[in-house]
Amino acid sequence: MIEHKHLNYDSYLTHKYWMGRAISLANAAGNKGDVPVGAIITNQSGDLLAAATNQKEQNQDATAHAEILAIRQASEKQQNWHLDDCTLYVTLEPCPMCAGAIIQARISLLIYGADDPKTGAIYTVINIPHSFASNHRPQVIAGVEEDKCRKQLQEWFIRKRKLGKSRKG
Ligand SMILES: [Zn+2]
Repeated sequence: MIEHKHLNYDSYLTHKYWMGRAISLANAAGNKGDVPVGAIITNQSGDLLAAATNQKEQNQDATAHAEILAIRQASEKQQNWHLDDCTLYVTLEPCPMCAGAIIQARISLLIYGADDPKTGAIYTVINIPHSFASNHRPQVIAGVEEDKCRKQLQEWFIRKRKLGKSRKG
């Protein structure tokens, strides 16, 4: 699953760059009270098509995950739901809903940061792309800037717990 050894140095740097952008977006979402997850979609030429964050709390919309919002933006920009030649970067392993959307949109390359031991649907908890329900298998690279992505989430949850306690106390 982790295919770093197959990556050449240039594409590794590109992936690191876009993941860094996704991490910054996630940070902004975290400051607004949402779980910090950020997503970016680029096309084959490396142009930015979409940049989105988890906005579930802000929008009070259970489907407003970063990946879903990014897929909508990119499809609108392309005026085409086929995102065949696109790469989706996301700081956290997609959940079942987003894994489904990634398959529906025919994203060709999925790159994510941290594994999600709770709802990771690419391979940590279940593997939707390789399940019988899937008619498309994106290439997957896991663990790009994994440390930064994981720490960002961990720190956000620690901060949230502390705030919750101080409110109660
Ligand atoms: Zn999701």
